[in-house]
Amino acid sequence: MDSTYDVIVIGAGVIGTGIARELSRYEVNVGLLEKEPDVGWGTTKANSGIIHAGYDAKPGTVKASFSASGNKKYEEWTEPLSVPFARIGSFVSTTEESQLDDLERLIEQGEENGVEELETIQGNNNVRELEPNISEKVEAVLHAPTAGVVAPYKLTIALYENARDNGVDFFFNSPVESIKVKDDPEIKGNFEVVASDGEVHGDYVINAAGIASGKVASMVGDDSFSIFPARGEYHLLDSEIKNYVNKINFPMPTGESKGILVTPAAEGSIIFGPNHQPLKEPSVATTREGLNEVFSGATDLFPGIDTSKIVTNFAGLRAKAGSDDFEIGESDEVEGFINVGGIQSPGLTAAPAISGHIVDLLEDKGLELTPDPDFDPNREPIPRFSELSPEEIAEYAEDRDAAREIVCRCEEITRAEVEEAIDRGATTLDGIKFRTRARMGSCQGGFCTPRLVEILSDKLGVSPKEVTKKGDGSYLLAGETKEG
Ligand SMILES: Cc1cc2nc3c(=O)[nH]c(=O)nc-3n(C[C@H](O)[C@H](O)[C@H](O)COP(=O)(O)OP(=O)(O)OC[C@H]3O[C@@H](n4cnc5c(N)ncnc54)[C@H](O)[C@@H]3O)c2cc1C
Repeated sequence: MDSTYDVIVIGAGVIGTGIARELSRYEVNVGLLEKEPDVGWGTTKANSGIIHAGYDAKPGTVKASFSASGNKKYEEWTEPLSVPFARIGSFVSTTEESQLDDLERLIEQGEENGVEELETIQGNNNVRELEPNISEKVEAVLHAPTAGVVAPYKLTIALYENARDNGVDFFFNSPVESIKVKDDPEIKGNFEVVASDGEVHGDYVINAAGIASGKVASMVGDDSFSIFPARGEYHLLDSEIKNYVNKINFPMPTGESKGILVTPAAEGSIIFGPNHQPLKEPSVATTREGLNEVFSGATDLFPGIDTSKIVTNFAGLRAKAGSDDFEIGESDEVEGFINVGGIQSPGLTAAPAISGHIVDLLEDKGLELTPDPDFDPNREPIPRFSELSPEEIAEYAEDRDAAREIVCRCEEITRAEVEEAIDRGATTLDGIKFRTRARMGSCQGGFCTPRLVEILSDKLGVSPKEVTKKGDGSYLLAGETKEG
């Protein structure tokens, strides 16, 4: 470690990784420290994956200022990085005519926030022309055609690969434990950021530590905000259920959340959730009570949905600041220390706009931004070998056997894809899952896990016993069985 950077980023969620990638356009040295073994394993991996249109945030808030503008920038990220993103549009549904005024108010709010193309659709028949399986009780919807879906972990992995290829140093398994600030801001490397495995020096520090952003700010004596976690739980249906839901479907929002939505995820399966549970301590454990609440919210909107096809459930944590708004800007306590904290929903939507804003802020603070002539904005995805013809396989794959060997039967993932995921940075079963979808199908890894352990062990040159699900002691194998 022990290096000096112009900018140190703490946290490799979509926010920290996005900022690092945007900075990699310039001749700026960037180092990013992440406590987990991979990118996107905080809130970024467990959310609805919606790129909101931007009508929901209260005008005048920081959230509102980055929502519609973030939405509009999405293709600027997803196209060069080859990340699937679809503007499938969203509905906010009401079952009572008396709530039409509330839909109109959302339209006015959206227009104030810069959202375009908002409209109401009235009458159940008209709504069902676009969403045939929605409840017959739905009387009207607010339609926001600019809303879309993205796989947040795939986006963050793509941002990471591109940032790394353009020169950003990533340090994984490096939880930041303390930050020392030297007295003289003129000194190069004014900050010393101390992680469990060493320290780095830098002129600017970006605090993008998600749920821990309040704690990281307090490491430099900035106690201006605290984070109050709020859990959201989800059910996920088998990806074999296709075309049952077309739009991102919300109920009427409540004061504290956008309600339990039902939507196709970017990668095809249907997802429903989240509920809203304020917690004293962060926890992503799912609960029977919470999942029942999610189930009932989803079946209110789609009474015929085949809930026997639920393959898994999960939970994510909202990083809610006391202000209930994003905490973005230079700390009042320490020059050069920039908070990007309290990034609850719609943080994924806002990420491209926030990243651009932080680059501008650093320039205003004196960071020299000379465009890097070698910057390449493009990144290729891992090929889906099972969808290629033999000729295409011959063109792409060095090892044709690997490109034909199906490892994950549910999602038809080949050994070549798994090996490439490892070559690109996966070191765990979850790292492979988020890059390839192996273990995301109906059997949830029942079939492919032993083979994946074998491949990881071979490629990383470690014993199978050392292979983990998600780092930090999550081993799968206890020891060898004896023959006879
Ligand atoms: C239930 C739910 C649903 C949501 N749905 C949507 C949605 O549909 N659309 C939308 O726009 N937004 C949504 N959001 C919000 C969105 O997910 C977040 O705003 C976004 O993921 C925040 O990204 P982040 O990078 O700030 O945080 P994170 O992804 O949590 O990243 C922070 C990173 O910092 C690391 N870290 C923490 N402490 C340290 C340390 N000491 N040292 C080093 N690293 C550290 C963590 O390991 C983590 O990787 C949702 C959120 C939740 C919880």
